[in-house]
Amino acid sequence: MKPELTLHQRTLTLTRFPVRKNETLQAWDAADEYLINHCHTMDLDPQRPVLILNDNFGALSCWFANQAPVTTVTDSFITQQAITNNLSVNNLPTVTIIDCLADLPAEPQLVIIKQPKNNRLLSWQLQQLCHLLPQDCMVITAGKVKEIHSSTLKLFEKYLGETKTSLAVKKARLIFTSVNKSLTAPMPQPTSWTVPNHNLTMTNYANVFSSDSLDIGGRFLLDFIPSKSQYNDIIDLGCGNGVIGIKAARLNPHANITCVDESFMAVASCRENAQLNLPTTEKFNVIASNCLDNFDNQSADLVLCNPPFHQNNTITDHIAWQMFCDAQRILRQQGELIIIGNRQLKYHEKLSRIFAKVDTIGSNDKFVVLRAIK
Ligand code: SAM
Repeated sequence: MKPELTLHQRTLTLTRFPVRKNETLQAWDAADEYLINHCHTMDLDPQRPVLILNDNFGALSCWFANQAPVTTVTDSFITQQAITNNLSVNNLPTVTIIDCLADLPAEPQLVIIKQPKNNRLLSWQLQQLCHLLPQDCMVITAGKVKEIHSSTLKLFEKYLGETKTSLAVKKARLIFTSVNKSLTAPMPQPTSWTVPNHNLTMTNYANVFSSDSLDIGGRFLLDFIPSKSQYNDIIDLGCGNGVIGIKAARLNPHANITCVDESFMAVASCRENAQLNLPTTEKFNVIASNCLDNFDNQSADLVLCNPPFHQNNTITDHIAWQMFCDAQRILRQQGELIIIGNRQLKYHEKLSRIFAKVDTIGSNDKFVVLRAIK
């Protein structure tokens, strides 16, 4: 896969993050190209901010970085790393990278949105923009034709203003919205629900996995979290709102708990939930990371994981596989990895390749809970 994007006599070298040898996937898509082509003839003010929401691996941030002060908003630690790497490889000026909960810059001249997968995040962002934007600001969103439904366009109309779409090019489409300040409404509160048998109350920002109710996999895993005096360091890998790590902290109050997620909204929710559900958070840490990058070898006794099993619309186990390999690396000898997975994904077979012993400790029609020992 060639990493060069060439448009309008300009070439950018763009890679995904993490950078992998023999990568087969491009770091940009047709929607990025459509946006760049559309904005090419615009006369941008070099002083006034351009705001970019949900860039994927940095194609948009890199393209506009030398044209105006760019603020790029992302919920993803992985995107943040990709943008930073790609700016540096292309010798471009730095851009301001903020997460979705941070304040947006005032008076942007142009707002560019890559349509997020999650409509709750989209609605949240449109409401945030309606508060901020001046009436003359242009908002252009790009997405895949098959993901722009009439219900999606209704969200733009409801939360931001009058909306029109472009023709499709290479299966991508643009959405143009003019800001209608009279639609400004109070920002929605995070969702909150309880887990009855476990006495937990979980609060979730818009982009957190399963933010309307507890995921059925997560619920099943809650019953298999062990309590042992010899655990010093426990990790909840892919923590989401922190339900697993918080339960582990309750069962093992003597242990250090580290919750890890690549979504900043998940990290924020997990921190707030720990405050809400634990008597103390002294031994409870939450960090944004790509899997367990930069964690020391042999530094944990137990890793708990409800891994992601799809990326976009594709069922995949490549992130889960990275999580298992990272867990194997950072566990101490005899350390345990406990995971939940859909039966069809055959995690038992995969874990057996890298762990000394793998047992099934729970199962129902849909899921298995596996314990792998190093
Ligand atoms: N533990 C929570 C639960 O059981 O409800 C959430 C589990 S959800 C299936 C998987 C989580 O992994 C999501 O919160 C997602 O943001 C996170 N994730 C995906 N890719 C990741 C990565 N590369 N590094 C860290 N976390 C990741």
